[in-house]
Amino acid sequence: MKALVYKGPRNVQITDVPDPKIEKPTDVLVKITSTNICGSDLHMYEGRTDVEEGKVLGHENLGQVVEVGKAVTRIQAGDYVCLPFNISCGFCKNCERGLTGFCLTMNPGNAGAAYGYAGMGPYNGGQAEYLRVPYGDFNCLKLPDDAEEKENDYVMLSDIFPTGWHATELAGLRPGESIVIFGCGPVGSMAAHSAMIKGASKVIIVDRHPDRLELARKIGVIAIDDSKGSPVEQILEITGGEGADRGCECVGYQCHDPAGHEIPNMTMNALVQSVRPTGGIGVVGVFVSEDPGSKDKLAKEGKLAFDFGAFFEKGLHMGTGQCNVKAYNRYLRNLIHTGRANPSWIISHELALDEAPDAYKHFDSRERGWTKVILHPQKSGSRNRSRSASVRKGQPEAAHAE
Ligand SMILES: [Zn+2]
Ligand SMILES: [Zn+2]
Repeated sequence: MKALVYKGPRNVQITDVPDPKIEKPTDVLVKITSTNICGSDLHMYEGRTDVEEGKVLGHENLGQVVEVGKAVTRIQAGDYVCLPFNISCGFCKNCERGLTGFCLTMNPGNAGAAYGYAGMGPYNGGQAEYLRVPYGDFNCLKLPDDAEEKENDYVMLSDIFPTGWHATELAGLRPGESIVIFGCGPVGSMAAHSAMIKGASKVIIVDRHPDRLELARKIGVIAIDDSKGSPVEQILEITGGEGADRGCECVGYQCHDPAGHEIPNMTMNALVQSVRPTGGIGVVGVFVSEDPGSKDKLAKEGKLAFDFGAFFEKGLHMGTGQCNVKAYNRYLRNLIHTGRANPSWIISHELALDEAPDAYKHFDSRERGWTKVILHPQKSGSRNRSRSASVRKGQPEAAHAE
């Protein structure tokens, strides 16, 4: 089959690789019909991880089941399923508590496994024609009969929609509260979408890419451009000097100032300053335990100069870590099914698999208009859909959104 393979820093290629097979009786084989490029794929693309050459990337996957192992009972060939990016067993200590992002079985010696990702186990990704899904009964989210019609919405259940939702959960958001979200990439945008659905009184987002800020405004979010002045001051002004009730970090360890210089502690300390005393912070942007490629001495060792004194004095609390997708994906699926959520508004490009290497290049350089790329491995040739077409199809009106 054809797959997108990591060959080295800023080098990904479409290559023929062996077809995945049923290896264990609990496996399911899925023909991938939609798979996204994720912002976190760019950490690998840029050579800022220890991902091995030859790995098939892609952890945001949806498709149709083509074969099931002998021990699979719930899932059948023909089912449309969305796969959480976490691969989990369902029976370990963490999975039993719903913490499937920290499964102790699938990546021995570590907590948490994923498809096609550095340090997350030996699993290939789904930017390919087919994908092997371990423990298929547990890991497949079955989609309803509008699976094909709403495929572009449902594929967001693999990662960014639940991850954005998780950021607001970790922050402790309750209806009527205000929330500030650092980062208006796909995950930050989904955190904003989630906060609107949950009934936040004010949703503020901080970024500097005009196209992304404009998209956020369209769903009723207050968008702050941090290249035009201190984001903290702007947030304090909007919240009557008090700070937002809740804050989310949706950028991660490669955060940088508007001039492009990486400042690893920038968003974390800005959150401490812009969330009100006794408020909560949710961190889902990726941070790593070592980053040899960083120019920052502390960051090389995975450390941050964090304003812990201010964090303590304000009595803030913080939740961190990757999303346990299975904790939310059924419910978010139902919100999509009934039309209460429509996360596909984030999509800017729908492409064939062959076009993926080029798409990585555009997405990595944060080119204007490249907010979210979705690949359709079963379609050949260019299906390049411009933002304007996407907006016509998927962009909600503010009133409809929530
Ligand atoms: Zn992702
Ligand atoms: Zn487990």
